[in-house]
Amino acid sequence: MAKCTIVWFRRDLRLADNPAVAAAIARGAPVVPVYILDESTGGDWRTGAAQRWWLHHSLAALDSDLRARGSRLVLRRGPADQAIRALQRETGASSVLWNRRYDAPGRSLDGVIKSGLREDGVAAESFNAALLFEPLTVRTKAGGHFRVYTPFVKACRALPEPAAPLPAPLRIPAPASWPDSDPLDSWRLLPRSPDWAGGLRETWTPGEAGARTRLASFLDGGLARYAARRDRPDVDGTSRLSPHLALGEIGPRQIWMGARDVERSEGGDGPAKFLAELLWREFCHHQLFHEESLPENPVRPEFAAFPWRPSPALLAAWRKGATGVPIVDAGMRQLWRTGWMHNRVRMVVGSFLVKNLLQPWRDGEAWFWDTLVDADLANNAAGWQWVAGCGADAAPFFRVFNPVLQGERFDSAGAYVRRYIPELAALPDDFIHKPWTAGASVLRKAGVTLGATYPEPVVDLAASRARALEAFASLRRGAT
Ligand code: FAD
Repeated sequence: MAKCTIVWFRRDLRLADNPAVAAAIARGAPVVPVYILDESTGGDWRTGAAQRWWLHHSLAALDSDLRARGSRLVLRRGPADQAIRALQRETGASSVLWNRRYDAPGRSLDGVIKSGLREDGVAAESFNAALLFEPLTVRTKAGGHFRVYTPFVKACRALPEPAAPLPAPLRIPAPASWPDSDPLDSWRLLPRSPDWAGGLRETWTPGEAGARTRLASFLDGGLARYAARRDRPDVDGTSRLSPHLALGEIGPRQIWMGARDVERSEGGDGPAKFLAELLWREFCHHQLFHEESLPENPVRPEFAAFPWRPSPALLAAWRKGATGVPIVDAGMRQLWRTGWMHNRVRMVVGSFLVKNLLQPWRDGEAWFWDTLVDADLANNAAGWQWVAGCGADAAPFFRVFNPVLQGERFDSAGAYVRRYIPELAALPDDFIHKPWTAGASVLRKAGVTLGATYPEPVVDLAASRARALEAFASLRRGAT
């Protein structure tokens, strides 16, 4: 099998706008597409349980898309460097191509693999499939990186528009014989509890075709109303493209181009707001690239001495959606049931965990990592650092979200809370976000017994807010 080209798929599980695939086909030799499950690296950031479910289905979809083009996906397991070298030797491939990643361990591993291959005379090349603007292309005037979102966006918008996305290939040349491949089922990516996967199955269609359909339906209606509805968890007001983006079933250039076309033809504030959110994703990756320990360490180093009060019981109540604060519990149950949570609610549950409960932000980050289908190292770490006030361009720590007011403002009729906490469904709107203020007869009529059918709040909101502010003040006193 001489002179074939290996395409190494990672978080870019698509055929359209995939520069490594396009470059491989342009070489004119047979192509061997491979995905490697590497559980020897990644430390705390090995693919979490919800995303393993997604990955299973996404790999199956990619294999079937490849087969429709005369190709297939080879599955290999093991330390990535060894697995890719072994496949290169077995196939005699003259080139190995992949799309870049931006986390420090991934970059350094890719660097080692690239030099090893080149030393052996194998062409090794990488491309940008994941970002609109790669981190080193967006620079401050002084040549450094950005720590604040607004000037970052300004700098991005001053650069040339991202290139038009590449079309998916119609055929992919196959080798005369295929190397061995693991059966996908042998990887046991699916969760042991079929009940849990049921909610994921009902909510999502993993794979490139599912991503394309979701983008098309969002561009067709949701985008125009995005600015007005994006903060409301009770409606389907956002694109829900994040899990597709996280595994690269769709690329940001495809989304950018689609939204820009609508902006040019229809105007309105929806597209502009949506493009600004896509640039938040870029900003998070920019941060991860330049702040290598973003997932582990606070960008503001003084926060390393924050006086957290770790409590397994409080953390467990938060994870289960049993804190007694309805908007928080609804969010945590949405996460458990669907593998996704609305952005506004992510901010509310994050603030509640870190500030009202004084639990370390890394505990929240780890739970999200394991349960989100859209788990993304850059977005998750930057999101948690933003919520905890220790990130580069973060919400100040002293701004503690009031979950009752947030619920009343963004879920005003309580539809979101009622969907995920049916035991509160019969409460009148006035009490849906604060059942502990309802009188005995209101509770009785709604079939709610606090402490029995639904928990009493695990903390007093006003007192825990004051305690958080005091903890922050003590940190500042320590710093001075
Ligand atoms: P839309 O509103 O339709 O936005 C379109 C795309 O823009 C999103 O898919 C996403 O790629 C990007 N985007 C939107 N908002 C943000 C944001 N605040 N930060 C970065 N990118 C954004 N997003 C993840 O993709 N993975 C995560 O692991 C993740 N963890 C988070 C943790 C916390 C504590 C917080 C506050 C936010 C987190 N986010 C994460 C960001 C955001 O909540 C999700 O990207 C968004 O809810 C996804 O839904 P959507 O695709 O419908 O978003």
